[in-house]
Amino acid sequence: MQIESNRLDRNGLLRDESLFHVANGYIGMRGNFEEGYPAGFQTIRGTYINAFYDLENIHYGEKFKGFPETKQKILNIFDTQSVEIFVEGERFSLFEGEILSFRRVLRMDRGYAEREIHWRSKKGIELRLSFRRMASFVLLPLIIMEITVCPINFSGEIAIRSTQSGNVMNFFDNSDPRVASVSEKNLFLEACSNLKGGISLITARAARSGLRVAAAVQHRFSKEGEVSHQFGKEGAMTVYTGRVAAGEKVTLEKYCVFCDSRRYEDCRSSAISIINEALERPASYWYETQKRYLDQFWLRAKVSIEGDADVQEALNYNSYQLLQSAGRDRFSNIAAKGLSGEGYEGHYFWDTEIYIFPFFLLTDPAQAKNLLDFRYACLDKARSHARLLGHQKGALYPWRTITGDECSPYFPSGSAQYHINGAIAYAFISYYLATGDRGFMEEKGAEVVFETARLWLDAGHFDKAGLFRIDCVTGPDEYTCIVNNNYYTNAMAKYNLEWAVKLYFLLEEEGRISEVRDKIKLDDGELLQFRRAGEAMLLPYDEELKINAQDDTFLRKKVWDFANTPAEKYPLLLHYHPLHIYRHQVCKQADTVLAHYLLEEYAEPLTIKNSYCYYEGITTHDSSLSSCIFGIMAAKTGDLKKSYKYFMETVRMDLDDLHNNTKDGIHTANMGGTYMAVVFGFAGLRIKADGLHFSPRLPQEWLAYSFDIHFRGRRIKVKMGQDGSRFKLLEGEALTIFVDGKAQVVES
Ligand code: BGC
Repeated sequence: MQIESNRLDRNGLLRDESLFHVANGYIGMRGNFEEGYPAGFQTIRGTYINAFYDLENIHYGEKFKGFPETKQKILNIFDTQSVEIFVEGERFSLFEGEILSFRRVLRMDRGYAEREIHWRSKKGIELRLSFRRMASFVLLPLIIMEITVCPINFSGEIAIRSTQSGNVMNFFDNSDPRVASVSEKNLFLEACSNLKGGISLITARAARSGLRVAAAVQHRFSKEGEVSHQFGKEGAMTVYTGRVAAGEKVTLEKYCVFCDSRRYEDCRSSAISIINEALERPASYWYETQKRYLDQFWLRAKVSIEGDADVQEALNYNSYQLLQSAGRDRFSNIAAKGLSGEGYEGHYFWDTEIYIFPFFLLTDPAQAKNLLDFRYACLDKARSHARLLGHQKGALYPWRTITGDECSPYFPSGSAQYHINGAIAYAFISYYLATGDRGFMEEKGAEVVFETARLWLDAGHFDKAGLFRIDCVTGPDEYTCIVNNNYYTNAMAKYNLEWAVKLYFLLEEEGRISEVRDKIKLDDGELLQFRRAGEAMLLPYDEELKINAQDDTFLRKKVWDFANTPAEKYPLLLHYHPLHIYRHQVCKQADTVLAHYLLEEYAEPLTIKNSYCYYEGITTHDSSLSSCIFGIMAAKTGDLKKSYKYFMETVRMDLDDLHNNTKDGIHTANMGGTYMAVVFGFAGLRIKADGLHFSPRLPQEWLAYSFDIHFRGRRIKVKMGQDGSRFKLLEGEALTIFVDGKAQVVES
């Protein structure tokens, strides 16, 4: 199980740095070449710790009340990737001499990335080299790099120069709003020393957040040689010199341990003790534990496709990337680009809850709970954020964040996206529906659902006709900003309010409500208001088109002139002023269509179908969060061909760099979306209060597909083949499910 490239694609190196990165949810390292690049060559050399950030001022021409003053951004930490190799005085570089063979793979069953190279220098010296690296899923602060050099046609001197540099900066590009537009020096080296046993340790401090990070590095060479250590203002360097005979190998094992002060009180001593723990074992031990970890992962998470190897490869890749990206503690979550790059500055969005959470919920509910724990840990900040925006009650989650503070500098398509509250509440409710874990709802879930419901009450109001309206918000479609009664937002708010009431009574029935009720001083009057607002929620509907209108005025706007917009003008956001875009009927991404997927009970099937057709005609899919949803809804409307077409546009999005920005990192939401496209699209799964509902369909291009899901203590295998669907209980008690509306008992 791997992805592989067999030639050096010089124009695709930035993309490959993202594609071949290694990460474990805590630490991520881009797939940069250890030996470096020629001067002036563009590379984004980066190593990141999930949620390790610095603060930067947000500069506004005109700053209004409540605008965030600073933003957090993930920091590029030490560069421990660099290892230069010299043979008889000649430096190894893929940009000089001749590449006789090149193979790069990401082994997703074993959890490492590797390059294998056969190279001839300008002077005719031939070498075989391999570079392997692994971010351990078992010991999160550990990355092991393994570099082997083998001379083919000479015996002589080999020198290996390995560095740990603190002289790093973040990437920026001021022509693209999706990456940082400026870069300052944020990380300052504090100390650099050599410890007993040859471990070198560097520590640094982020200028404004004051966070610290330490890296401990140890080198092990397989062959005797001369080893020296140097320390300077920028970091440490270890130099090895030895003599090797033709055919003889020298291997360097470089153990790198990274600890930050958010997780480790004394990150310096933690780094030392963790590297010592790691060094007690040979690298083979860590590879073995990595493999065992991944065996378990694939057992739970593999989606199998019979009849299409390319799709299988891409689905594997996407699931693996979700695993690499997901934070496992209360400090971290899943950044839009995971730990593969700096796009969106390491921020967490609603992407997690709507697009990625379902993957974890159905394959690893404990990890899904970790993701919710993070949001719970940010609840107090969401309360303060709500006050800042003028709300008397409730909590408003920030649009983009690392620690729970709003980091969005452009509020029309940032803070105005109140629907993130609905997404978070929706994820808590889905967790409850899929696990039945009332303890968690009592302890954490209910508080989030009540506080987000309160926000809707405060943000909206009842009009003269008794309808509940929510004005001046932005829905998911970022090409239409600050609108009244965005259908998606209102539908999600309605669900949030209805569930606040349901959950209250569920917990009350079991005598589990008093703690949270007293803690947040929830009274009966408020409950009544939740119910009333939920029932009276305005869900815009257009009588003429027989669709749900995206908002109060959307359908009255001029339709974008698609016929005269050349392909190079997409994505529109890079070519047109936002106001010009806002004045038109044009969608960046699924909005009403997404609401119809998540909340199909709020609309008639015909309205859902009509809406799908209408919005399809005016959606650019400029966001990577769009096509997967249209694919799911195409399946829902019975158009499996179209569904498959959308699926194919998403499943290899990063592998084929379809959005031309994989260099900034992978698109994690889309990756979750491709999982959803199979499970919720083709297999038609919906998780409802009465259990699991399926309507499985098989794209004609495939022979079969199958996956396992975890649901209320069971593991169920779902298989759809040309002879129909089959459901098998692998763990837990028998369960009644619904297939195309018909009840069916699943047994082992
Ligand atoms: C999308 C948002 C998304 C963000 C981060 C934007 O382009 O419009 O919906 O949350 O990217 O992935």
